[in-house]
Amino acid sequence: MTELLANYVNGSWHTGKGQGSTLRDPVLGTELVRVDATGVDLPAAFTYARDVGGAALRALTYAQRAKLLADVVNVLQANRAAYYEISTANSGTVKNDTAVDVDGAIYTVGQYAKWGAALGDVRHLADGAAVSLAKDGVFQSQHVQVSTRGVALFINAFNFPSWGLWEKAAPALLSGVPVIAKPATATAWLTQRMVKDVIDAGVLPAGALSVICGNSAGLMDQLQPMDAVSFTGSAATAAVIRASAAVTRHSVRANIEADSINSALLMPGYAADSEAASLLVREAVREMTVKSGQKCTAIRRILVPQELYDDVAQAIGASLAKVTVGNPRNEGVRMGSLVSREQYENVRQGVARLQQAAQILYDGRAQALVDADGAVAACARPVLFGAKDADAAALVHDVEVFGPVATLLPYRDLAHGLALAHRGQGSLVTSLYGDDAQALAGAALDLAASHGRVHVISPAVAKAHTGHGNVMPQSQHGGPGRAGGGSELGGLRALDFYHRRAAIQAAPEVIQGL
Ligand code: NAP
Repeated sequence: MTELLANYVNGSWHTGKGQGSTLRDPVLGTELVRVDATGVDLPAAFTYARDVGGAALRALTYAQRAKLLADVVNVLQANRAAYYEISTANSGTVKNDTAVDVDGAIYTVGQYAKWGAALGDVRHLADGAAVSLAKDGVFQSQHVQVSTRGVALFINAFNFPSWGLWEKAAPALLSGVPVIAKPATATAWLTQRMVKDVIDAGVLPAGALSVICGNSAGLMDQLQPMDAVSFTGSAATAAVIRASAAVTRHSVRANIEADSINSALLMPGYAADSEAASLLVREAVREMTVKSGQKCTAIRRILVPQELYDDVAQAIGASLAKVTVGNPRNEGVRMGSLVSREQYENVRQGVARLQQAAQILYDGRAQALVDADGAVAACARPVLFGAKDADAAALVHDVEVFGPVATLLPYRDLAHGLALAHRGQGSLVTSLYGDDAQALAGAALDLAASHGRVHVISPAVAKAHTGHGNVMPQSQHGGPGRAGGGSELGGLRALDFYHRRAAIQAAPEVIQGL
């Protein structure tokens, strides 16, 4: 039988008492490891993290906690090769896709280490300046931010087992809040291994970081009023989290990142052979194929002026036809597999569903897989849909197929194009392509109303931009409405979620003593 990975809680390793769930290689179908949390004493685990980990972290200053993050970076860097191997085996990713997850995580922790160091040797943060509440200034109000005295529970999705942990853990630990991570079962190995390396290296105080793999049963029941939960995953599970007593009765702070029907929009007035059009095509193909389209930020709808519909369809199709799909261990393969055969089936069903509202413009499914058996491997090939009546095709604005799938949509004029982008009902990100700074700025502000991030690509930034789907820690990640209403990262803004703001009303001498 395969190895059963242990959970780390209460300052020690605990192996589940059940059979557990088997994690597989999604390309070869072979069994890798098992995870199980049966018998883990959850109340004790949460109490230990809250009391022991929380107290130890809060005793440190921001600069000292930033140093802990720098130490975490060193541990992750030292073990990077092992993470690449686990990622290929368990997530079926090619090296470039592993980099998004693994190196993206290391970069993000490094950024918070840097920003945290600049906060200095203080244990709370002032929020604005003191204001007078009395005519002569003898009574004042000063807002402060103090670390929340609870745990941060992360319930994560399968697509970013590394980045999904660290992009949240970095601001939490910097804020002085202990972390309990619950990775998605299908790809939990990488998360568990990273936590193990950091624990083994002894760089964090006891109780600061725990990991519970396997079934999520009972986790939400442990949460108390000062705790926080961050959830990333499907809208259906998000609804369960929101309906939990922890959130409804105890006001546990919840950050939800759910699915998102992101878009890309080519501004009007450009020819099919313009640089703006080719930048859109390049980014659309990249977004469809990076991590086999399993990115919450991936472009799902491609909006173009109606007169360019056929040309853009052809250009995207021609580019997709060059994407080799198969075993990520083969150097000739550009796109690996989905994370599991179950996800493969979900994508197959999603494609069938979109066919009710749109027609297939490019179908990669006829292409042979490289070094992989189609009956076993979870290798999905790209499919480009198109819907000439973008208003009537309601499904394409609503159904997220979590794979290498997108839909091309024509618009009549800019107002129509922007209205179609807003039909994502709140999205993580949209991108704009054009060369007129004034027009781009206007469109960006319009789309900001329903998007967490607006990524504007003009020829001047063709080489410098960070990518539609790449989440940079400097910018907010999250979106309103169906994207979950969450907000993460965005530099030090991320610390807000792990702090409590209070107004201290007192005499000036007391305010100065803060
Ligand atoms: P999921 O099925 O909702 O699972 C997400 C996490 O919730 C997993 O860790 C899962 O554990 C856990 N879970 C399941 N049922 C639960 C319950 N009743 N109580 C508490 N936890 C529970 O989502 P997924 O299929 O893994 O993820 C894919 C989705 O995530 C996509 O729709 C994608 O758009 C979204 N996503 C969003 C973002 C973002 O930042 N907005 C990022 C990545 C992915 P098990 O694995 O053990 O079931």
